Amino acid sequence: MTATLRVCSLYPELMNIYADRGNIAVLRARCEWRGLGFEHSGVTVGDALDPDSADLFYIGGGQDRDQALVARDMADTKRDALHAAAARDAVVLAVCGGYQLLGHSYVMGDEELPGVGLVDLRTVREPGERLIGNCAIEADLGSGPRVIAGFENHGGRTYLGAGERPLGRVLKGHGNNGGDGLEGVHRGTVIGTYLHGPLLPKNVWLADRLIELALGVELDPLDDRMEEAAHASALRAAGV
Ligand code: GLN
Repeated sequence: MTATLRVCSLYPELMNIYADRGNIAVLRARCEWRGLGFEHSGVTVGDALDPDSADLFYIGGGQDRDQALVARDMADTKRDALHAAAARDAVVLAVCGGYQLLGHSYVMGDEELPGVGLVDLRTVREPGERLIGNCAIEADLGSGPRVIAGFENHGGRTYLGAGERPLGRVLKGHGNNGGDGLEGVHRGTVIGTYLHGPLLPKNVWLADRLIELALGVELDPLDDRMEEAAHASALRAAGV
């Protein structure tokens, strides 16, 4: 029987800036080009989330205003399901605003948005400019150190708890908070990052690794000359 990757997007209409939806197109293409099945579902405000409904749960970035709506709904109606999904080693991939909501809280002035507490991190607004620009990090997702390139634009600064691992170390750019040289979070199959781009078209090795983790398979390589050129161009933009 052919394996099928089941992807569920959380709040696809609210959490999709910088074309984060493009990540889904890449996952689909990488599966279909290899003859794997691909199914895509979505859940939004008020919907229940079935933790067994997907192999990979995805949430993109968002504006503060949309994030406030999403944060409360996600904590109220999807927190337990996301914990159950992570506990059975489904992949959870969260970008920027979605990444911030995986932690304990996002404090913006007087307002404190709840997170789902999947990982030990907090995000705060601090005085200072937004952290914007092309970025590159070195990360190891179990297949050796690789570079992830992308674009970041966030006002929030994220601080990992003492026992939490980052996704990678910043080679160029700001990362989680512009201070500690760390970017993103990585615990088991839960991955958060500030990198848009969208992320996966610029880093197809990462898309393949996520599919492998989600399905428990090893993928054969594809002819990635075009994709490698996109990756190289993102690295050049970041100055690596
Ligand atoms: N609204 C969040 C911030 O500015 C996240 C922005 C984003 O997803 N790019 O920190």
